[in-house]
Amino acid sequence: MQNVRPKKHLGQHFLTDLSIAERIAQAVKGHDGVNCVLEIGPGMGVLTDFLLKNPMELYLIDIDSESIAYLYQKYPQLKEKIIEGDYLKEDFSSVLPDKYAIAGNFPYNISSQIFFRVLDERDKVTEVVCMLQKEVAQRIASPKGNKAYGILSVLLQAFYDIEYLFTVPPGVFNPPPKVDSGVIRLTRNQTEKLDCKEKLFFQVVKAGFGNRRKTLRNSLKSFQLPEDLKINPLLDKRAEQLDVADFVFLTQQIEASRGNH
Ligand code: SAH
Repeated sequence: MQNVRPKKHLGQHFLTDLSIAERIAQAVKGHDGVNCVLEIGPGMGVLTDFLLKNPMELYLIDIDSESIAYLYQKYPQLKEKIIEGDYLKEDFSSVLPDKYAIAGNFPYNISSQIFFRVLDERDKVTEVVCMLQKEVAQRIASPKGNKAYGILSVLLQAFYDIEYLFTVPPGVFNPPPKVDSGVIRLTRNQTEKLDCKEKLFFQVVKAGFGNRRKTLRNSLKSFQLPEDLKINPLLDKRAEQLDVADFVFLTQQIEASRGNH
């Protein structure tokens, strides 16, 4: 089989170190009794080989037709489970079971978008084990008070427990990326629904981090904060100092004051 030519615009950096692929595959735990895993961006299947050693049912999705042709040849037994498509757009409802895990060495250029899709699908996605830029991996896993802590950290931490597993240097990829990579695991937590309007929560978090250096009193101005909230010391803080529960509280207060008008 002829190797797939790495295409930059598809974020293709093929892993060449088998022991790292093995560690990523072994980090998939099958949380919540789930028995199915979707691999995003299998490329030439270096991670796939190790995921196949796991008893979980395996589905693959890749956007690259050259990779798909390669995978069909390499894994004839997976024929029905190889999907040529864009993870960000694909409708999985008639393909995947109700609940499944996700694994992958993600295309780094769209890793944030992948997580926004995961958030949309969070009632189905019980676990994510993935490699991405170290900086983004750290950001997602970061607790409050840390410089890296940001919008995706809060939104994902609302619904997932997140562990930073290990760092991977550029030299183990072909071609090597410009940055270090990091592997993280997200495990769905018990939160079914937030105790506030979710859309507003997302807006509050985004606005809060809009200018990281401003206090929340300033960055949340456009929400017309209720008077008693304006004097709350929480508003002297900056977004990076607040955890999920603090943002839920703020959203509840804004929501309540809207209800009164
Ligand atoms: N898992 C392989 C390849 C990682 S490179 C390895 O570790 O070697 C990222 C892969 O994601 C590529 O195969 C690329 O074609 C695929 N990809 C890029 N954008 C995608 C998208 N929107 N949906 C699905 N796969 C995508």
